[in-house]
Amino acid sequence: MKNIRVRFAPSPTGHLHIGASRTVLFNWLFARSQNGVFILRIEDTDRSRSTIEFERSIIEDIRWLGLDWDEGPEIGGDYGPYYQSERRELYKEMADKLLEKGLAYRCYCTENELERSRKEALKRGVMPKYDGRCSNLTPEDERHLISEGRKPTIRFRVPERKIVVHDLIRGDVEFDSNVIGDFILIRSDGMAGFNFAVVVDDAVMKITHVIRGEDHLANTARHILLFEALGYPVPKVAHNSMALGPDHAKLSKRHGATSIGEYRKQGFLPSALVNYLALLGWSSGDGREIFTLQELIRAFSIDRISKSPAIFDIDKLKWINGQHIRQLSIGELTSLVLPYLKEVSYIVSEPSSEEIAWIEKVVEAAQTNLVTLSDVTESAKLFFEEELDYDEDVLGVLKGEQVPMVLKTFKETLAKEGEIDIEKAKLLLKGVAAELKSQGIKGKEVYHPIRAALTGKLSGHELFYVIFVFGKDKCLKRVEEALRICLTP
Ligand code: GLU
Repeated sequence: MKNIRVRFAPSPTGHLHIGASRTVLFNWLFARSQNGVFILRIEDTDRSRSTIEFERSIIEDIRWLGLDWDEGPEIGGDYGPYYQSERRELYKEMADKLLEKGLAYRCYCTENELERSRKEALKRGVMPKYDGRCSNLTPEDERHLISEGRKPTIRFRVPERKIVVHDLIRGDVEFDSNVIGDFILIRSDGMAGFNFAVVVDDAVMKITHVIRGEDHLANTARHILLFEALGYPVPKVAHNSMALGPDHAKLSKRHGATSIGEYRKQGFLPSALVNYLALLGWSSGDGREIFTLQELIRAFSIDRISKSPAIFDIDKLKWINGQHIRQLSIGELTSLVLPYLKEVSYIVSEPSSEEIAWIEKVVEAAQTNLVTLSDVTESAKLFFEEELDYDEDVLGVLKGEQVPMVLKTFKETLAKEGEIDIEKAKLLLKGVAAELKSQGIKGKEVYHPIRAALTGKLSGHELFYVIFVFGKDKCLKRVEEALRICLTP
């Protein structure tokens, strides 16, 4: 098989959203799994809506997801430039060829005239389409129209025929060209129309497979006509289904965050997003749900992309994120959560290596509970706050009859310890529980007061983590304070 070349072709008119990020991922996975070439092409023909900020944000998000490109912005390549705004000459040349062959024509209709006939069609209840009134102008007619100051567009002469899209995901989808009006190849300002620019670029960039959203399916019918008119082979196409919200409506703001950048800010890991996005409309076939990017490359194939709509499920994304967080080393997780701890001023200056060692303990205690990185602030609160504030419930627990006995046993056992690591903390708690059991005190009656004394709360991290992070001195101090409270009548 010839070299596989695929592309992701975002229009920089918004941020990278969930739907498009799935398209970029599927293209990238396909290229990487087939030793193909992955191209990034910026489709900025719509100058009024395209911005450099959106372009930067899209590029940054693709990179953050861990996806790289072999040709495209910043790195160039043999088929550049990779910005459609810089390829006007090429589009014009190609349009001129179609004009010469009679496969396209100049249209002098003004915006107002087109709008008027569009409205009339709607009034008559028919689908508006260009009526072809400029399709057979004589040179004389054209001279006359130009003298009126009209600027022409170039339109494609849509042949009458059936068009079959051979979709790798959906099978054959048939269109009748009757419903397609002669569409614009080059606008009156000289810029190519969307469909023409896409086809010219896919043709000359030698794209072999086009994987894109289902919303482009009808465009593909137009593209097939254009590839044939230009004399280029039609690439293989695959249209992945739309991402929908849980209510089966198109995924939108009201379903929560829709852009990759928002998920990044909320503390989702790129590896988890990529894992989730892959499962949004694709499956490995064996029920497996947790993948690294490298594992996805090995498992990916186009024929396992589903044609039914993909329902976005935030709970599943959160679950996957938690799984990926648990797979990080403490060092990796610590450097990822530092910005969140700084944001709430738990950390104010660059931490020393000694402080980092302590923060790593906090992170280790938090790791099993985190759903997103930003949850670290809630989880770490206990360790950064100096003062305890016992509420009514906690005071109630501390007033229990057995509590002085529990806390004294805990205190005495702890006082005999040296440096405390997680294993020691676990053993220590076991020892305390065993000793108290022999006195008839067990379960909740043991752990509740110790937790209340150390943390001022009745639930939270596993107790051994608390002891591990606080260390011996702080634990002793807190137990003594609590003892004073429970011994005060
Ligand atoms: N620029 C188009 C978009 O952002 C993609 C076109 C294509 O993939 O062919 O929707």
